[in-house]
Amino acid sequence: MALRHLILAAVLWAGIPAAPLWSWGFEVHRLINGQAVDLTPGPLGTFLQQRRNWIVALSTDPDQRREYDKAEEPNHYIDLEYFSEPPYTSIPHDRREADEKYGTENLAQWGILPWHIVAVATALKEALAAGEWERTVVLAADLGHYVADAHQPLHTTANYDGEQTGNEGIHHMFENIMLEQHLGDYQSPDEISAATGCISAMVFGWLLESFHEVPGILKADRLARRRLTEADKEVVAQGFSVDPDAVSPAYINELYARTGPMAWRRISRATTRLTALWLRAWEEAGKPTPPQ
Ligand SMILES: [Zn+2]
Repeated sequence: MALRHLILAAVLWAGIPAAPLWSWGFEVHRLINGQAVDLTPGPLGTFLQQRRNWIVALSTDPDQRREYDKAEEPNHYIDLEYFSEPPYTSIPHDRREADEKYGTENLAQWGILPWHIVAVATALKEALAAGEWERTVVLAADLGHYVADAHQPLHTTANYDGEQTGNEGIHHMFENIMLEQHLGDYQSPDEISAATGCISAMVFGWLLESFHEVPGILKADRLARRRLTEADKEVVAQGFSVDPDAVSPAYINELYARTGPMAWRRISRATTRLTALWLRAWEEAGKPTPPQ
């Protein structure tokens, strides 16, 4: 599909409320892709900056694709508990080995986020090496989406909406309602992360960092719900189908006080690591000169 069709599709879809079940909220995805463009130096940075609006608009496209492509769903998460025991270091970083160890059908259920990030990063490098600049823009935006998802702690657990621990609704409260009310607090990172060494090892490291934050989110949610009336608790438990205006501000404020700094740290890391992956793809492609 030509880039302009993709953009048109993104613009059309933007008006349709999609259930953001596999993602940070749309505003956070836009923030991460846009800030990563701003951080990118050199000729690649100039190229991306000239297409910043596209990269921001396309940041949510992978979520919208799942509306018509079932195979898209597992690209957005990994339920680590299904793969092994803590500390989850025995999961093969190689996709083929993972297929053999767990079975392709299980992977389609348990999630393939880390392997998908590696596949998209590889495709980006190939597009750059081939001088396919329109495709570069689409893949750079896609990569931003999945790198962002890898930094959302609740995308790394089978208990993704707190349903196993009495925290039903937390996914949407944490990533959408809470953060979209506090977007103004975000402080842009000013330096890029290093992206050296094996990309898959790096990505698995990000996922373990994310997973490590899950208990803190669940605890904060539990504490924030304590003082709510039964009616307010029911509203929170509606999760993705909730009316944002009906959610208790006291709940959101306490959840934010307890998890906001961590959430912004995850988002900042996603941003700087995304920039580093873009740069690495460009360097490994032989630093091709972008078109004006
Ligand atoms: Zn997603």
